[in-house]
Amino acid sequence: LVRVRGLEKRFGDYRALAGIDLDIARGERLVVCGPSGSGKSTLAYCLNGLEPHDAGRILIDGMPLDEELGTAHELRRSIGMVFQSFNLFPHLSVLENCTLAPRLVLRLGEQEAHRRAMENLERVGIADQAAKRPDRLSGGQQQRVAIARALCMRPRLMLFDEPTSALDPEMVKEVLDVMIELAQSGMTMVCITHEMGFARAAADRIVFMDQGRIIREAPPKTFFGDQQDPRIRRFLADIT
Ligand code: ATP
Ligand code: MG
Repeated sequence: LVRVRGLEKRFGDYRALAGIDLDIARGERLVVCGPSGSGKSTLAYCLNGLEPHDAGRILIDGMPLDEELGTAHELRRSIGMVFQSFNLFPHLSVLENCTLAPRLVLRLGEQEAHRRAMENLERVGIADQAAKRPDRLSGGQQQRVAIARALCMRPRLMLFDEPTSALDPEMVKEVLDVMIELAQSGMTMVCITHEMGFARAAADRIVFMDQGRIIREAPPKTFFGDQQDPRIRRFLADIT
């Protein structure tokens, strides 16, 4: 589904991504982790075309993601993104948050957009809050709305950038449970998270980044089982 080759991203002289190669198969669930500043968010932003890259290639279903070819815009709508801060539209209801993009971007009719929104709000367990403004909801509920909103676009890939790190501890589980359900449903997912319990439960592969590079890629069992690399050992020790 996704093929990344030699991806580089600079901010001035600083190489935030220093040559990333990554393949993601349809239905695969990746957890991306690594120290702060290692380039995880930058990778996610490049993958969905929010940040243009400086070198290398990103192919999505064989189509190059390229600002100049005008494909970035086209591909972006098929990639769902969930951020640490929920980024809901504060002046719209939960329901309207979910129907807006499908109506404007996919040109769905009101009824179809509404039906799809309620279906996904149901799925994340929050249909009863549909009429409320986001600020009336808890952080965990808001994040579940953000997930439902992304799902309403029927994405072929879901990207999560630390979706639980801004949440109070008691709300982390309700969001992870939704993500685990999504993972089990066959959704292709890239999850930047330090929730190693989630990684064990739901990831096919763990990708560890350091200084703009992928330094290890392994299934959870192998990754946690016998960790030789001191950078990864230190990271795991720091977060637990
Ligand atoms: P964290 O765990 O803290 O979220 P991260 O792995 O997501 O870290 P990135 O946000 O991808 O890291 O940042 C990688 C590097 O690129 C950092 O050194 C950061 O300061 C730099 N960087 C990111 N975005 C920008 C920007 N818009 N302008 C300049 N530098 C940036
Ligand atoms: Mg980040």
